[in-house]
Amino acid sequence: GKFRNFNLDKNILKALNNLEYNKPSKVQSEVIPRLLNRQNVIVKSKTGSGKTASFAIPICENIDIDIKEVQALIVVPTRELALQVKEEVSNIGRIKKVRCSAIFGRQPIKEQIRELKQRVHVVVATPGRIIDHIERGTIDLSKIRYFIIDEADKMLNKGFVDDMEFIFNKIGKNSINGLFSATIDMDIQNICDKYFVESSLIEI
Ligand code: AMP
Repeated sequence: GKFRNFNLDKNILKALNNLEYNKPSKVQSEVIPRLLNRQNVIVKSKTGSGKTASFAIPICENIDIDIKEVQALIVVPTRELALQVKEEVSNIGRIKKVRCSAIFGRQPIKEQIRELKQRVHVVVATPGRIIDHIERGTIDLSKIRYFIIDEADKMLNKGFVDDMEFIFNKIGKNSINGLFSATIDMDIQNICDKYFVESSLIEI
């Protein structure tokens, strides 16, 4: 396969070329067309497979940069991963001018609020801090087009299911959802059963 076959914006293709992503990885071949076609996905796949770009590419493709609102939310277990995912989204969306922010705990909330008020299209966040922003009313998730849970298996705290349900309940019904995990345990299965009813299960 070729990235060109996905009918992507030329600025996304240019960015992929700059990153030397010459052809889609296996997970990308499976996930990109589904997310572009507005299908929910559950993906059992490990780090190193290129899973980040598999959701970052469709997200960047579908951002309307003229709309100055958050259009995609990616929830991750750690600040380190938040920064990595933000980097990947920023690289892929750079030429198109997609703006991405990483929002995590133990960072000044006032600066995050200021950042969220500016033109941010994609937010990558840890669960606790994004819930804090939802409760303060400093982020609006009603216009979200894509909601991704990355490395779900690493969110081992007991509150994970409750946190995800809280976030899901704030997201507009038109959102396309993706869940990525190396393993699917009972907590994750419960979320899939409730929020990913008509989704493709992709195992790499
Ligand atoms: P990930 O599994 O998302 O952590 O990606 C693993 C590594 O593969 C990262 O360093 C990416 O930059 C790189 N990568 C992702 N997609 C591609 C691709 N299509 N071609 C070459 N490298 C890629």
